[in-house]
Amino acid sequence: MAKWEYAPAPESTDIVDIKDTYGLFIDGRFVEPASGEYFKTINPGTEEVLAAIPVAGQEDIDRAVDAARTAFEKWSALPGSQRAKYIFRIARMVQERARELAVLESMNGGKPIKESRDVDVPLVAAHFFYYAGWADKLAYAFPGRRAEPIGVCAQIIPWNFPLLMLAWKIAPALAGGNTVVLKPAETTPLTALLFAEICEQAELPEGVVNIVTGAGATGQTLVRHPDVDKVAFTGSTEVGKEIQRAVAGTNKKLTLELGGKAANIIFDDAPLDQAVEGIVNGIFFNQGHVCCAGSRLLVQETIAERLIAKLKRRLGTLRLGDPLDKNTDIGAINSRDQLERIRSLVGIGVEEGAELYQPACEIPDRGFFYPPTVFTGVSQSHRIAQEEIFGPVLSVMTFRTPAEAVTKANNTPFGLSAGVWTEKGSRILWMADRLQAGVVWANTFNRFDPTSPFGGYKESGFGREGGRHGLEAYVRLAEVR
Ligand code: NAD
Repeated sequence: MAKWEYAPAPESTDIVDIKDTYGLFIDGRFVEPASGEYFKTINPGTEEVLAAIPVAGQEDIDRAVDAARTAFEKWSALPGSQRAKYIFRIARMVQERARELAVLESMNGGKPIKESRDVDVPLVAAHFFYYAGWADKLAYAFPGRRAEPIGVCAQIIPWNFPLLMLAWKIAPALAGGNTVVLKPAETTPLTALLFAEICEQAELPEGVVNIVTGAGATGQTLVRHPDVDKVAFTGSTEVGKEIQRAVAGTNKKLTLELGGKAANIIFDDAPLDQAVEGIVNGIFFNQGHVCCAGSRLLVQETIAERLIAKLKRRLGTLRLGDPLDKNTDIGAINSRDQLERIRSLVGIGVEEGAELYQPACEIPDRGFFYPPTVFTGVSQSHRIAQEEIFGPVLSVMTFRTPAEAVTKANNTPFGLSAGVWTEKGSRILWMADRLQAGVVWANTFNRFDPTSPFGGYKESGFGREGGRHGLEAYVRLAEVR
């Protein structure tokens, strides 16, 4: 098929200043880890080493939690308008340093610059602006109840939206009067450390935000720390279950945002060309490293052939390659481990008898890349229809009636999101009532807004982030007598 050729349009990396070695951000300053250990963080698009990152051990976590505890007294006692002042300041600084944040996010995580620049970073700023607005209105947020801060919050985030997940966690926590110790994922620590610089620049009081780096063991130490009052985790269902076991029997509040296997459901009256764009956005956005990705496509049987033909044609126009190129649609897979996991599940899909389609596309020699992939002839029991692949892989199934679509959509252990494409409003509402998903998008997919709550059912977790619901996760509510 004829295709427009684009000249390379790489975003310059001059704007970012990556240090050789980083410190832990504890009590308002960067410090060397007591553990003395470091690990290397790389650029998944080139495999080049970017920096040495400290591993926070028990002593470091103790220091960070102590700093957050000490800061809590003053921070929680500040008038809401004062806390708002700092959060607004952070929001503005995120906007001012947006390009730097976006470039670093793409360098360390592999996502296309047009996504980090146009989606992630603007949403990060929007979350801080939104929750800054709540900080002095807590008395009105929950009518009949008084909102009180919880205390020290341990926050653990994944690698797919490093800055955005940080914003979803830190912004409501600070607005609610809490202090935090946040651990970014081991493959994507750099933007969280740049965010720590923004906290310094914003003159946020010492100890209100602490950033500790490391892998699962660091997260485990943080979750188990006895002086933590709340644990907020976003990541895999497997680790979420482990964390739930670890906090059982303690007084720690817990929210879990876990995995998903969303159904994107296309009815025969849907506008097909728009639906194709929605399908592509649903599964290939951020290389499919999206918890709410529309990884199961349910198409009404009568239009399946036509829709799949259109989808395959569209796949041929997607541009895969350098995450920093402004024309890139599909960037790098976040890590070698994740690439292996995708390859292994795709291999299982082929063995199970599903039909694989990948458009002709050039894979760069260096870096971790995987082509956009569509499986047809998938049945409900296939592992590729049940397990989260967390990559650019779509499993297509068909249905005949709305009831069948609902049964098939709900037939997974997860329940994070779903999409419905139809021109009938009544059908959208009928479906939304029956779909077991925290978010149901209608005639769109992967839309986020700070005012709108996001979260799961079943094995996708509990608790909400975003909106007033997201604020509720960071306060204790007492009856007003
Ligand atoms: P992961 O669970 O392996 O790791 C997530 C974070 O937890 C990392 O920071 C990791 O270091 C830490 N961690 C690992 N073991 C730990 C332990 N035992 N105790 C405490 N912390 C520990 O997940 P991942 O591979 O980084 O992220 C991908 C997963 O995240 C996917 O399943 C995806 O669906 C999910 N996710 C969910 C949402 C949501 O809002 N529901 C959003 C983004 C990603």
